[in-house]
Amino acid sequence: MARRFGKESGIIGVAAAAVVSLAVAGTLAFGNFGSGSQAEAEGVGAKTERAAPAAVDSSIVHASDRPGRSLNITIDDGPDPVWTPKVLDVLKKYNVKAVFCMIGPQAKAHPDLVKKVVAAGHKLCDHTISHNTGMDHQPESYQSQQILDAQKMIEDAAGGTQVEYYRAPGGAFTPYSRKLAAEHGMRPLGWNVDSKDFEGGTVQGIETTVRGELPNGPTVLFHDGGGDRSRTVDALDRLLPWMQQQGYGFGFPKR
Ligand SMILES: [Zn+2]
Repeated sequence: MARRFGKESGIIGVAAAAVVSLAVAGTLAFGNFGSGSQAEAEGVGAKTERAAPAAVDSSIVHASDRPGRSLNITIDDGPDPVWTPKVLDVLKKYNVKAVFCMIGPQAKAHPDLVKKVVAAGHKLCDHTISHNTGMDHQPESYQSQQILDAQKMIEDAAGGTQVEYYRAPGGAFTPYSRKLAAEHGMRPLGWNVDSKDFEGGTVQGIETTVRGELPNGPTVLFHDGGGDRSRTVDALDRLLPWMQQQGYGFGFPKR
């Protein structure tokens, strides 16, 4: 908690200093001045500006928040400077919103991509720092660092937008990690349909796998990082219109 606010106070401090310089220079920057003044007036109360997110349920969610015949598209292991923009393009082409489960250091390295994801109406998910699929066998201190440091990196890269979900790499959840994520406002997120787009199959293979597994449930897993994702992009370009033809709409996992 202190870490989060410490960084924010730093940002506000810089903003306030900038406002003072502008005022001294006689620049009529009313927009900035207004927000700077507010932050100054709040003083230490600026802590409340980015309030800690409310706790959510700690069980692993698969259900969609959209009623009826619905799917939740989830995209893991990015952001990636090559593949994330292509995935964003294909989602936009079919007006589909998705959840992006991001690796903390990659989000930190590509804040422009994180902001693009948010600006396009998609939601953010914490996919840890190191993507250690054996993290469920690691101490709680390790799990905590993996989850909370990544949350902060993603949230900072996004410019403050809340990270709404936590997906353990490889599904390596523990009761502790689910509870921790939930206490920090992130609903543990599972999946029902694994596109297996990270395995060496063809576009047709990914398509067949997803079509065959759709009866399993609404949450579908793809990847925009971790290697050449051209087949993922092509598979999405074929699957999304097919899903729409089948009468599916797209929602977000429940929180
Ligand atoms: Zn992953």
